Parts: sequence; C-alpha cells; structure tokens
Amino acid sequence: MIGITSYGTYIPRLRLDRMAIFQSMGWFAPAIMMVAQGERSMCNWDEDSITMAVAAARDCLVAKDKNAVDALYLASTTLPFADRQNAGVVSTALNLRDNIVTTDFTASQRVGTTAMVTALDAIKGGERKNILVAASDKRETKAAYFYEMWYGDGAAAIMVGNEDVIAEYKGSFSLSYDFADHYRGRVNKYDYVWEERWARDEGYSKIIPQAIQGVLDQTNLTIDQIDTLVYPCFFKAEHKKIAKKLGAKPEQVMDNLHEVCGETGCAHALVMLTGALEKAKPGQRIIVAGFGQGCNALIFEVTDNITKLAPRSGFDGAINNKQSIDNYPKFLKFRDIIETEMGIRAEAPIQIAMTTLWRKRKMILGLVGGKCRECGTQQFPKMDICVNPNCNAHHSQDEFEFADIPAKINSYTGDLLAVSIDPPHKYGMVQFEGGGRFMADFTDCDLEELQVGLPVQMVFRRRVADKERGLSSYFWKAMPVPGASEILNRVKFDDQVAIITGAGGGLGKIYALELAKRGAKIVVNDLGGSRDGSGGGSTSAADVVVNEIKALGGEAVANYDNVATVEGGENIVKSAIDAFGRVDIVINNAGILRDKSFTKMTPENWKAVLDVHLNGAYHVTRPAFTHMKDQGYGRIIMTTSAAGLYGNFGQTNYSAAKLALVGLMNTLKIEGAKYNIKVNTVAPLAASRLTEDIMPPDLFAKMKPEFVAPMVLYLASDKCEESGAIFNAGMGYYNRAAFYTGPGVAINKGKEPPTPEDIKANWDAINEMEGAQVISDANAAIVALISPPDPKPKKAAAATAESAPEETTMSPKEIFDLMPGQFNKDAAAGVDVVFQYSISGSGGGDWFVTVKDQTCDVQAGKADKATCTIKMKDSDFVDMVSGKLNPMQAFTSGKLTISGDVMKSQLIEKLFSMK
Ligand code: NAD
Repeated sequence: MIGITSYGTYIPRLRLDRMAIFQSMGWFAPAIMMVAQGERSMCNWDEDSITMAVAAARDCLVAKDKNAVDALYLASTTLPFADRQNAGVVSTALNLRDNIVTTDFTASQRVGTTAMVTALDAIKGGERKNILVAASDKRETKAAYFYEMWYGDGAAAIMVGNEDVIAEYKGSFSLSYDFADHYRGRVNKYDYVWEERWARDEGYSKIIPQAIQGVLDQTNLTIDQIDTLVYPCFFKAEHKKIAKKLGAKPEQVMDNLHEVCGETGCAHALVMLTGALEKAKPGQRIIVAGFGQGCNALIFEVTDNITKLAPRSGFDGAINNKQSIDNYPKFLKFRDIIETEMGIRAEAPIQIAMTTLWRKRKMILGLVGGKCRECGTQQFPKMDICVNPNCNAHHSQDEFEFADIPAKINSYTGDLLAVSIDPPHKYGMVQFEGGGRFMADFTDCDLEELQVGLPVQMVFRRRVADKERGLSSYFWKAMPVPGASEILNRVKFDDQVAIITGAGGGLGKIYALELAKRGAKIVVNDLGGSRDGSGGGSTSAADVVVNEIKALGGEAVANYDNVATVEGGENIVKSAIDAFGRVDIVINNAGILRDKSFTKMTPENWKAVLDVHLNGAYHVTRPAFTHMKDQGYGRIIMTTSAAGLYGNFGQTNYSAAKLALVGLMNTLKIEGAKYNIKVNTVAPLAASRLTEDIMPPDLFAKMKPEFVAPMVLYLASDKCEESGAIFNAGMGYYNRAAFYTGPGVAINKGKEPPTPEDIKANWDAINEMEGAQVISDANAAIVALISPPDPKPKKAAAATAESAPEETTMSPKEIFDLMPGQFNKDAAAGVDVVFQYSISGSGGGDWFVTVKDQTCDVQAGKADKATCTIKMKDSDFVDMVSGKLNPMQAFTSGKLTISGDVMKSQLIEKLFSMK
C-alpha cells in the first residue's frame, strides 16, 4: 500500500490581530476592514521558509527512523536562496542521510501538492520507499493591502511511503494552465496581482471544481463518498460556493483557516490536510487540492494505522501554540518593510566563511555534538578530548545529536545593548538532559517568561541576515517548551502537610479540598460546635471533609480538638506529625461569633471569642512553628476580618481578636524570616454560617468561598515570597490592606517638649499622609518618627490651596504668576531660551518666559523671537502643570503641540518645579 505515513505542522507562534492592521492603516485603505477578522500568523524575525520547513519536518519525523528517509522535496515560493539548494539546508538541519535525493519545488502556489504527487509517483515507481515532502511559505505583500490580511506564514510536512500507511493514496488528477492571476517577476519582492474578481471567477471557482471532479471521475468515486474536502481559497464566499458547485455539503469542507492563521501560500493545502488527517477516522476519504496555474487534486483513504501514530504537536498543537499581538509596526519591522536605525554595533562584520560552514556543517546546521565512548559524557561541541576531567580520553567521541534532547535554562539575560531586531537580545546557558550545555539565544519568548530551570527545546532559526551578500545564516536557538512555564509556575503542594483549623465547613473546608487537589496532605481540624461555639462538639464535620478528600484520591486525617486550649493546639500539630511526619502549612481559620453591643458584651462572650480566634492561633501555631524552624520552611496564614481592620458595630470582641492576629503576624514574620517561614493574613469575604444573617441575600449568593481560596493557596505555597502582609479577598476581588505611617513633623526640632497648643498648630503636618509608607518593624518605626522630611517649599498647587480650596480653580494666569517662584536657578546655567506659550480656552492667552543668565522673566503677550512655541488648551495646561497629565502623553495624544526647537522645550521640566 502506498500513501501518507506521517505528517507534521508548523505555524509561527506570533499571530497578528488583523484589526491592528486596520487600526493603523484603515485611514488609508478603509476597504481592508472587510477581511479584518481574526488573526494572521507571522514569522518571528528569525524565521523563514527554511526554518519553518525544518520545524514541520521535525514534527513529521516524530518516532520515525530518519535514516529511512531517501528523498526530501522542499516546496516553497519564498525560498531564501535562488541558487543554493534550500532542501539541502533543511536536510542537513534534520541530519538526514547524505546519500538521498534533495530538491526544491517552486514557482507556483500549487507546488506543495505537485511535490506530493511527484513523491507518490516515485514511491509507486519503486525507486524510493520514504519521501519527506515539506512545504513552507512566508510571502511578502505591500502594507495595507487585502493580501496582507489574507496571507499567513506556515509550513507542513507529509511523509509518503509504502509502510505503516495512515492514508492510502487512491489517485490524483492535475491541470496545468498558464493562468496568471498574479506573478512575481524575477527581481521583484512583491507579487503583481490582477483584479481579484477575475482570479476568483475565472480561476478558483472554475479550475478547482474541474480538478476535483477529474480525480473523482478517475477513481470512480462520487462527491458523497468523500468525507473531507481540502482546498485553499481565501475568498471566503467563493470557498463555500466551490463546494456547492461540486454538490458537497458544507460539513464536508475543511475551513480555510482565515480566522486562525491566514493562507500559508503553497503550504496551505498541506497545512489544511494535516488538520483533516488529525480529525479523520479510519475508512474516511479525503480530497486535497492545490490551486495555482492549474490545480492538483489527490484522494486518500484513511487506514487503521492513523490511530497508532505517535503523539506530536501536529495541526492542533501548531494552531494553539500562539501569542497574539496587536503591534503592527513590529510585523513591519520583522519583515524588513520598515527600516530602523540599528546603531553602530550593527555594522560589525558578519561574513560567514563558507569553508568553516562546510567543515562544521553538522555542528552548525545539525547541532551535532559528541558523546564519549569511554565514559558516556555528552558535550557540545564535539572535540578531540573528552571534557570529563576523570576521563579526558582522546578521539573517543561519537557524533551525538542534541536537537531533540530536552534542556533547561541554567542562566539567562536580556541584553539591551546588543544588536537585536526584537530587543532585548535574550541569551543564556542551556543545560541538556544527560549532559552537555552551550550558550544559546532564546527565541519565541519574552524576557519575563524566562527563568532558571525552565524547560526549553531547540529550534532551527536564522541567526543573522547578511543583507550585503544575500545570506541568511542559521543556527539553533532555545525556545521555552509550550506550556512549560505554566507547569513550572503551577502552585503545588506535593509532599507538603497542611493543618487547617475549623476546616469542617465554610472557608476552611474549601481550603482543605483545594490544597488536597494540589497534592497536600491535610489535617482537617474541627470541633464541630455551633456558630457561637456553645454546645458539645461533633466529629462529623471534620469526618465528612476527610472522606471527600479521600474520595478525590487525596490524603487527610481528621482532628476534633478545640483550638481554644493549649492541649488542643498541641494535639492538632501532633496529628500532623503522627500521620504525615511534618507540618508545612498552618491556616488559622477556626472561628465563632458572639456579637453584642459593647455595654452588653459580657466577659464570657469577650473571652470565648478571644480564646478561639487569638489564643487558638497561638495554641496551634506555636508547636507548629518549632517544626517549621527545624525544617527551614513554613507558611502560616492568619484569618482577620474587615471588622478587625476597620471596625463593625456589635463586634468589639471579634474586632479586637481579629486585629490582634495582625499583631501576632507582625512579630512572627520577623521571628520566622531566617527560617523561610512566611506569615501572612487574609481578610475573607464569603458566604458561610458566620455571614448568612449579616449579608444581604443577593450578595450572599455571589460570595463563594472558592473566590477566597486561591489567595490563601498562593500565600500557603512556596511561590509566595511575601511575609507580613494583609489581603482582603472575596467575590473575585483582592486588595492589600496595610498600616501606613505618615511622614510627620518635628516640633521644636525635637529638642523641647511641645505644648498642646503646638500640637494643635501642627495638626495638619502631623496628619499629613502624602509620602506615607509601610514600616517593616518597630525599630524602623522609631527611625521614621525621629527623621521626618525637611519642610518642603510650597508647590504651585499647594500655594493657592488656602485661597482656592479646589485646585481646578487655578488658572493659567495664576500659574504664570507663580512661575518665577518655582524657577530652578542651578539648572539654568548656560541656558538662553524664550518659551512662548499660546494657551487656548476661556482662561487662555499668550505668555512668554525668558530664561537667560540664570534669571527668569515671565511676561504676558508674544515674544519677538521664541525658541519654541507651546500650544495647549487651558484645562490641559493646568492638568499638566499640576501633575495630572503626563507631558509625554499630552504630546503623543496631540493635547500639546510644540513648534520651533522641540528639544529645548524639554528643559522646562528641569527649569521649573511646578508640581
Ligand atoms: P464557619 O462557621 O463556616 O467555619 C468556622 C469553623 O470553625 C466551623 O466549622 C467551626 O466548627 C470551627 N470552629 C469553631 N470553633 C472552633 C474551635 N474552638 N476549635 C476548632 N474548630 C472550631 O465560618 P467561616 O465563614 O468559614 O469562617 C472561617 C474564618 O474566616 C473565621 O475565622 C472567620 O472569623 C473568618 N472570616 C470569615 C468571613 C466571611 O465572610 N465568611 C469574614 C471575615 C472573617
């Protein structure tokens, strides 16, 4: 049997939102809006048809024997080299055998299918057994053009052969016409395109049905015996009409992928075919047709082997591995459509010595290193002497391919000084599994994603483009494995033990379940008492939660102790140690309520609430802290409440206990710091029996404890570096609460005790919260208290504060009156300028400011000769001066226009401190 034996797909990760093209260029070409749906794929700056073909071919070769490949056909209309065999570069990168046939197929959009037909014919002829067909295209168009919207970049690879066939070849039919709907002259970068209407009506809609009907007739099949029809056509309506013309139902037709990646040139029929194969069931028939100066149509019938194909990224993997961008200038820069200044460093010589490239081709293009026969050490590059100091054997290295070996980042940097088309230039040390490392460039990632230990895979990319000599040089780069960063950053609790008090219901129960789902072993503590803590306990609450965790496949033990007693606390921790041998997390969550207005707050109610909340946290945390100290790791969470942080009528006992927990945290964070014990506090807002009669019913319904749990889980995890912080959490909203301390004031310079009258006189300064800060500990608080900032000169806005309480009442005239007082003489050395202001609006007018000999003069009216003229609306001008409007934003948004010497206008900020 002859047919397809494997397939692979590659779509560049970057996807440009077509609306970004329209938003930039719609003013010029409004009609492109008609096709501005979805995203088009776009190559990274270091990708081209060769690199994409390598990527698709590698996907196709997964679990296949590379040495069995006896021909490689590369199809593309955008080959980087006109006379250096492009397929040869791909073959060397793939480390295929040397004694195979390699060739390029080019010069038509249907060349992907032509290469397939040719390969299948060769297999049929019996000369070859396995042929790898790779099709890849990165077509350029002028900006703001329909074709820029329609096109995408991409590649596919299809292996054809006569063993383990996944889709049997049933026949093909080809038409060859010199139908020149578009063409690219030998020296042209862009296609010349004839009217779309003609290409659509005379080309696509006639020639594709003709070819498909041809192959059906040839194989004695009818259209209803075909399960999937694959044919590219970027005219959306025409794509549907062609099916209708053939009598096919819409569900038989494979989508043209306009929304997800755009048309990938001569690769598109094959890209779509890989999508069809990925969904196909044994026994189904697929027709694939490729249009371009005629049409090829091929029929395949899927076999049982398709179910045995090794997992690969494939079509879905390629489509789904994406980063959407809306940066159209980036697209233009990456494709060299706009030229930017690259700086002097970009002029460094980059000529590649062809002699070296030939000698080291396996190393450079194939990423082939060495492996020592004597000691098994892997190394890159291969050398005459083994790098293992305990071995150092000579000439002991066999060739060893690194391209498919999993690797991790050992170190990385983002270099803003190095020349890069996508700054910063990202590179670092990559460590291969089993040994071997080298300094690699990172690609297809942002600097923020990189981290030590991140799994990376090697990808074949352009290294430098030597425009002068028309040479792209290639090498291997490291790319984060898709999804690896999410896995690495996943909050997990494998082998960790968590104690959650009061976990028999409400919030504690959800914390317990969520922690267990992520691998923690749980001590579910609950006394099982009533809401006010009265009455005897019951074991059932904790037992129910333990059973739920076990049913989920987790590990948990129940504990029924009372946190309000010393023994209870000790027993809870003992339960953890007895059952699991350690304790990593304590969530002090148990709670009761005994609300009464203050005069009715009996000592019993006062004490009962403090005993459970405050003393309970002390009783459990203290014995747990000892274990955490010994093991050098711990996460402790206190549960406070809005009542404690801000106050609530009828809850004096509860408020006092809840805020006392913050005090406990504040000191514990200091004592735990050197043992990697982090202590934080959460103020939840959730529906539970404690809140059912406090919250309005409709709000209560929205307050699932599941919205609080993610914050608690993060604080409980090893990912959390925070300690000593308080967070409000509930209903999907999260914020930080903190004690801020104002800058304060020194009265009598701190030397003489002030009088109460002095306090009154300084009341505003004592109360000042501008410049307030969070203070780390009591010592830092003393330092902050005795070192208040120097009294500041009154600022422009403040200067008028007494006479005009609303800053908005300040007028441009008042600002210009104040300007000489805000003049910074030191910054004016050597400055000789005249700034002309032309302010529009009811409060506007003309003013000019002359700065010369380190003096400043402000006059109403127009200057004879201005260095630059600043034009603004009165309200924008006031906003800018009072700091509400950023000058750069004002400039870029058009609110501020500057004519004359624009550079000199930048001095204004230095010369005047108006904010
Ligand atoms: P809840 O009543 O559903 O849960 C509290 C659990 O603590 C109960 O299962 C109870 O049996 C247990 N418990 C009480 N006393 C105990 C003791 N001495 N020993 C062991 N277990 C005991 O209430 P919830 O709303 O889930 O509250 C959990 C925590 O969150 C409490 O500390 C509460 O003060 C705090 N809180 C909750 C909210 C909210 O909106 N739900 C708001 C602020 C603070």
